[in-house]
Amino acid sequence: MIRVRIAPSPTGIPHIGNTRTALFNYLFAKHNKGKFIVRVEDTDQARIVAGAKEAIFEILEWLGLVWDEEYIQSERKNIYKEYIESLLKKSLAYKDEGAVRFKVPKDREISWTDMVGNKKISFKTDIIEDFVILKSDGFPTYHLANVVDDFLMNITHVIRGDEWISSAPKHILLYEAFGWKSPIFAHLPNILGPDKTKLSKRHGAKSVLDLKKEGYLKKALLNFMALLGWNPGEDKEIMDLQEMIKLFDFKDINTASPIFDIKKLEWINGEYIRRMDNSSLKSALSNFYKEDMEIISFMKRNRETIDLILDLAKTRMKKLIEFKNLIIYKIPQLSSDEKNIAKNLFEKFSSIANWNKDTILTSMKEVLQERNTKGNVLYKIITGYETGLPLPETLEILGKEKTLKRINETFK
Ligand code: GLU
Repeated sequence: MIRVRIAPSPTGIPHIGNTRTALFNYLFAKHNKGKFIVRVEDTDQARIVAGAKEAIFEILEWLGLVWDEEYIQSERKNIYKEYIESLLKKSLAYKDEGAVRFKVPKDREISWTDMVGNKKISFKTDIIEDFVILKSDGFPTYHLANVVDDFLMNITHVIRGDEWISSAPKHILLYEAFGWKSPIFAHLPNILGPDKTKLSKRHGAKSVLDLKKEGYLKKALLNFMALLGWNPGEDKEIMDLQEMIKLFDFKDINTASPIFDIKKLEWINGEYIRRMDNSSLKSALSNFYKEDMEIISFMKRNRETIDLILDLAKTRMKKLIEFKNLIIYKIPQLSSDEKNIAKNLFEKFSSIANWNKDTILTSMKEVLQERNTKGNVLYKIITGYETGLPLPETLEILGKEKTLKRINETFK
């Protein structure tokens, strides 16, 4: 039975790279009907950040990456002691100024075949120093606890970021020293920013929790993260979790670093919004804006109006956070030229006898022509923003009286 784990250290809020690693572990486990385990590696007590552990679980829960087992290393402190003792007894480790170090054998080459790209990776032991396995504070180090736990938890595949490649030979040496078989390793190429530098917030790569706050949908985030380094072929781009589980295969993991492109995430999110039916979109919006009275009261309007607005909004919205600007208006600051255009528009709209999107559009076009101006000016006059929902349709819903009242406010 395949058993994989993520082993996050609670040293910060998980970034998109850690979360992608979690997703790949999950997909691999579920594709193979195996188990997905979460193990919090908190043996480096000095680096623990308050709230990080909770955030790890919150993210997994929100995304629906349901884990089968959960362990916290600090609760397992005593377990590691006997394994360290056994190495000391066999003289494979030694005490050194309050710490215990593993004795790295000389002149050896340590190698493994990595599941990413199926390539052999080797390290000479000469470049590896005798590393600490037990610290003076009584806690084991990452290397020791990681190996002991992967063994005790019957982990078959270690799937993690490639920043851990240089740790792998140390781990293999420990497996050997204990007389255990190493798991299979898969080191995922790290995600880079569009400028090929280390991914950071300035590339828009925030934690999944921050992206959630901006109105990204979990399905879109899962889909986007899956494509960071995995190419299921056939130009497949939009996939739900079940489909990803079905298709996931390590042979389709790229060996090159994936590039984080926030525009692609926006596009995927927009696709998901467009594909939602109105009642799911309405509940997603109501949930997203649950503390915003303006939106809450807007959502109480009759079903027909809401449906019309949602149909229009869907075509323009990439993130839920954009909904408010699409439907809520503000009074713009207009130049004197723009005020004249507003007056002109007011007159045209006033003379419309049959208020509908076609007559509205005709009047707008006339103003644009007479004033030799652009559509975004009309947008600004009517909505306070330069872009938004298609105006004729929205104004038809808003009604003639309210529209005129609003335009009147801008120049009086
Ligand atoms: N605790 C390590 C981390 O923070 C785990 C690396 C591994 O998966 O072995 O990512």
